Amino acid sequence: MAILTNNLGFPRIGENRELKKATEAFWKGTLAEEELRQCAADIRRKNWQRQKEKGIDLIPSNDFSLYDQMLDMCCVLGAVPERFGWSGGQVGCDTYFAMARGVQQEDPPRGVPALEMTKWFDTNYHYLVPEFHRDQEFCLSFNKTLDEFAEAMKLGIKTKPVLIGPLSFLILGKEKEAGFDRLSLLTRLLPVYTELLNHLAARGAEWMQIDEPCLALDLTEAHKEAYERAFQEINQSVSGVKIILTSYFGPLDNNLELKLKLPADAYHFDLVRGEIDLEAVLSSFPAAASLSLGVINGRNIWKNNYQRSMAIIQKARDKVGAERLMVAPSCSLIHVPITLANEPFLNPELKAVLAFAAEKLEEIATLAGLAEGSLDPSLIEQNQQIHQAWQIRPEITNPQVRARLKNITAEDLQRSHRFTERIRKQRKVLSLPLFPTTTTGSFPQTREIRAARRRFKQGELSRTVYEDFIQKEIQRVIEEQEELGLDVLVHGEFERNDMVEYFAELFQGFAFMTNGWVQSFGSRYVKPPIIYGDVQRPEPMTVRWICHAQSLTARPVKGMLTGPVTMARWSFVREDQPRSETTRQIALAIRDEVHDLEQAGIRIIQIDEPALREGLPFKRQAWNTYLQWAVEAFRLACCCVRDETQIHTHMCYSEFNDIIEAISAMDADVLAIEASRSQMELLEVFEEKTYPNQIGPGVYDVHSPRVPEVSEIVRLLEKACEVLPRENIWVNPDCGLKTRSDPESRASLRNLVDAARVMRDRYAGKS
Ligand code: GLN
Ligand code: ZN
Repeated sequence: MAILTNNLGFPRIGENRELKKATEAFWKGTLAEEELRQCAADIRRKNWQRQKEKGIDLIPSNDFSLYDQMLDMCCVLGAVPERFGWSGGQVGCDTYFAMARGVQQEDPPRGVPALEMTKWFDTNYHYLVPEFHRDQEFCLSFNKTLDEFAEAMKLGIKTKPVLIGPLSFLILGKEKEAGFDRLSLLTRLLPVYTELLNHLAARGAEWMQIDEPCLALDLTEAHKEAYERAFQEINQSVSGVKIILTSYFGPLDNNLELKLKLPADAYHFDLVRGEIDLEAVLSSFPAAASLSLGVINGRNIWKNNYQRSMAIIQKARDKVGAERLMVAPSCSLIHVPITLANEPFLNPELKAVLAFAAEKLEEIATLAGLAEGSLDPSLIEQNQQIHQAWQIRPEITNPQVRARLKNITAEDLQRSHRFTERIRKQRKVLSLPLFPTTTTGSFPQTREIRAARRRFKQGELSRTVYEDFIQKEIQRVIEEQEELGLDVLVHGEFERNDMVEYFAELFQGFAFMTNGWVQSFGSRYVKPPIIYGDVQRPEPMTVRWICHAQSLTARPVKGMLTGPVTMARWSFVREDQPRSETTRQIALAIRDEVHDLEQAGIRIIQIDEPALREGLPFKRQAWNTYLQWAVEAFRLACCCVRDETQIHTHMCYSEFNDIIEAISAMDADVLAIEASRSQMELLEVFEEKTYPNQIGPGVYDVHSPRVPEVSEIVRLLEKACEVLPRENIWVNPDCGLKTRSDPESRASLRNLVDAARVMRDRYAGKS
């Protein structure tokens, strides 16, 4: 009896980033809507055919999106906020992209903000957040799901449509008015949802994949009841199609019972992150249902370990029977690059142990074949040999790094004195005014700067010419900051394309892809580095740039580094050691740089950790373990400095109130933290808990082109003064200025400096 192969989703960006090019051209007005649709259809066709060729039985549809799958779902269900002026009927391209990107119109001046964007669980993918109102109505308004199913049928492929489940759709959204709970919308949502499923059944869909990733989160009783209600209703009102209830990204743990209670024809489990669920799944698995085993890691790029996967599959087969088994990736493959075939420059030894999306499809088919007995079992042996050959490669182990890490003591993780003592000495050295002003690090990167970097990388520009160019840019930005009157200056980060890639390229132990793009959001794709071996910093990385900047001014220039947790989070990490260990190695490498910067006379060093919060486990019970090693890694990176050297850190992208104690434990002298987008909601936490060190709650949103007024900034600073000691408050933007334009940031920074002056005048001399 055949074991089915089940894929959960395939990258939709196109092998040559076709989707990016097409959507961006469409936005610019140089590509017609019809051409964009054609490009999308081509990508879908290639994806479906590829999956068919590789032997996938359950090929997903509706996993494609022009921008984001949650946005699609908002449109499918007619959850379009009023400000987009949609008046019913099918949601058109303009409304769709307006929701994704907002509208900026000059004449008459009008701005419609996009839907909010946030991280998709702990991935680096960002989704658009559905907005809900008390009187929210739903109605089928976007035929995408049906159209794509029909489109594949025409190609002779009966796909398995994928939908975000009703509960995850609600839970991942947000109420836009007070006084109601979005779960209460379920009653109105379900009929529309079941209507859609029935349409798909009527068109001939045999299987449906309903994604309920929220099953991996901590759920309340109300959530659980809603889950039961929703799936009972789907079960009663939908007929003629089999449902695969799908969860991923973590073990289900105490939600396992709930999931198996929800009526479905098949259940998918992430057995990479959730292998600990396996015994419980098997011992209580419903008699007639099918079991989809997510054994291929959809979150990382390493070749599967067949022996380990086969052990899981065999256990499941003994219990459930081959006829009810499916082999699958742990989650959708959109989080990995498309194919190794486009990576001619990777070290062949490394390449031998990698598998991207296309290769993962092969692995799925191979495992199913092995489990059925239709493939030669020696394949398992061969796979084992490939892994073993890699494990003994000299480039992955660095005895020096290992020895250093072994000898780390508690003292290495601590500054020599407490903050109160340090700040006294730092004040003397730095003599900064009240409400000191600074920026987060990067300054606008003009087309010229990007071109120079690119040409240098491609060998078209000599090192001296390039370095000269960067030094001139540094000089320009130092002069500009002095002219603006900022107190602590930065060098602008012009030599960096990306805050992770830049350092990764200078460390040992990292490898880089040529075409390995992964969607981050909309048309923004990233190429995360691969950490394959022990990490070391062979030589100073930033010292010369920072020292050059410092040589041009009497004001302190900050050394700018990316923190260890962020470096590891935004890379593909090795699987042969815990993430915490990899992070510690990176911390040690950064520590070397911190040391060298201090030796070179730099008085302030900032270590950014924007990704610290996103690494938090879904379940609260696991938070402490993570926070402990993450905070320790940060401290390992910076606690080698003298009391006089001031350590800054910066964090953005998320809410911090629930981990503020861990953030305090990082013991940075100054914390620059995103706060303006939520109107300083962040400060609420300080009403109960005091933040012990200095802090710069971001006073304006760098993601918006709007220039903040002086009075606005003053108002935010006043708000901060209500809960924080005045002498501890810094004035800075929410994040780096890299993506902004020059005139705009200059105007914003001018107002920021003016606002700080207003505050100084108001409070100087008062305690
Ligand atoms: N120092 C970096 C910059 O200013 C920080 C970027 C970030 O937090 N994402 O660009
Ligand atoms: Zn930031």
